[in-house]
Amino acid sequence: MPDESPFDHFDRLKKQLQDSILRDYPNPQRRGCPGDATLRTLARRPLDYSLEGNPNWQHLTHCAECYREFLDLRADVRRRKKAQRVGIGVAAAIIAAGTVFILANRHGAGTRPDRPQIAKLIYRPRMVDLEDLSMTRSDKAREEKKPILLGREPEELTIRLPFGSLAGTYEVQLLKSADRPLLSANGEAKIENGATMLTLRVDLSSYEPGKYFFGVRQIPWDWTYCPAVIQ
Ligand SMILES: [Zn+2]
Repeated sequence: MPDESPFDHFDRLKKQLQDSILRDYPNPQRRGCPGDATLRTLARRPLDYSLEGNPNWQHLTHCAECYREFLDLRADVRRRKKAQRVGIGVAAAIIAAGTVFILANRHGAGTRPDRPQIAKLIYRPRMVDLEDLSMTRSDKAREEKKPILLGREPEELTIRLPFGSLAGTYEVQLLKSADRPLLSANGEAKIENGATMLTLRVDLSSYEPGKYFFGVRQIPWDWTYCPAVIQ
């Protein structure tokens, strides 16, 4: 498949894996099945490293019947979350509209001579693509990696994490040298269309232009670094 994108490739591998569980582990007698409540709990939680020793997860990935139910439950959870997000978006728009209305009325009435003093930082959106950065530590790869370019300003970073990264809590650091982290920030990475995306805000306006290192890790795992340049 020469025209296949990385997303499609990931989806295809995932589908193959799912199909093989459904095909290779029939359990019509439902031997050792943990039950509906357990499957529901698993369907709602993030799939990360902590599942590796979980006996229910072990069962589920070796029982076609449970796995099929799990996939259905998970699709259901995803649909509901999506519906919630739409609801929250609408609520936020209504609140925003309400705020504008209140501010307009205040100004109109002239009862508040003092303007609202909102020191609001404007965060410039920036994409940081770390998809090709291997999470395994390789000095060679690190040297060859082109530096990521950052601006000397408040930035909202949307980081595409290395291919195959799991969803969960991540920490990023800006460092001048190996043992000197200058800045650290945390965020929740989500899987969107097969890519693991992490969005967080950092204020880089106080840092000198020059060469730095950018570190990223899933808590509590090890750091991966790549060169960075603040322009
Ligand atoms: Zn089962």
